[in-house]
Amino acid sequence: MLDGQTCVVTGGSRGIGRGIAIELGSRGADVAVNYRSSEAEAHEVVDRIEDAGGRAIAAQSDVADREEVEGMCEQVRRAFGSPDVLVNNAGITIDKTFANMTREDWDRVMDVNLGGVYNCTHCLFDDIKEAEHGRLINISSVVGQQGNYGQANYATTKSGLFGFTRTVALEMARSGSTANCVAPGFVETDMLAEVPDRIQEKIIERIPLRRFATVDDVSGMVRFLASEESSYMTGQILGVNGGMEW
Ligand code: NAP
Repeated sequence: MLDGQTCVVTGGSRGIGRGIAIELGSRGADVAVNYRSSEAEAHEVVDRIEDAGGRAIAAQSDVADREEVEGMCEQVRRAFGSPDVLVNNAGITIDKTFANMTREDWDRVMDVNLGGVYNCTHCLFDDIKEAEHGRLINISSVVGQQGNYGQANYATTKSGLFGFTRTVALEMARSGSTANCVAPGFVETDMLAEVPDRIQEKIIERIPLRRFATVDDVSGMVRFLASEESSYMTGQILGVNGGMEW
């Protein structure tokens, strides 16, 4: 159970982040559901947590915007006190072959997927380090391990999270707080829905378990990492990928 823990889930309005927010809320955590533009969806997640007896707030900010993130962190502290757990989940894709990828396509994916991780982690670093069971959980991807055609920008950001996680894990270790990375395979969300059917069929052929992950497959792992049970794990990269090799 996560009673008494305050968790911030970036990109909690849809997809994997939505599932993580609901899972953490159902285990007793107070949850800040961050979103950029999907306000109605974020409020639906909050309602779901509250209907189940939990506490949650919708917290708007573009994670790529430092000032907005600072405002969001203050909003969370006012509502629930100092956060204990940060789940860096918000992420985007702008897929193109590298030859066709513009500098803008590259920069926007860097700004959200890595800049957002910098902004949120930097703003909440002291809160998490000083928490009794502080947890930083970064959502990467098997694409950061294998690479993927048409995703040079995205794969770079997802690989970047490995070095980031291992380094901040060292810098947090003295306080007893941990940092870990979850690298899901292909998960049934809006992000995957953008991939054409014929490519999805080819991807499934590469997955030993012969199915895409569900959001629950990932949120269960995040719940474990957020809990006391994972206290002796830090700096790890956990694949939730149906057995794909890398
Ligand atoms: P999704 O369905 O597209 O949802 C993305 C979420 O991120 C939304 O809640 C969105 O909120 C939020 N978001 C996007 N840009 C944001 C920004 N600048 N600031 C704040 N929030 C922002 O994506 P998903 O499939 O759930 O993916 C979630 C994470 O898992 C990503 O980091 C992704 O790389 C990773 N992942 C996904 C898969 C997969 O197959 N789906 C596999 C491995 C890893 P708004 O709608 O409000 O913008």
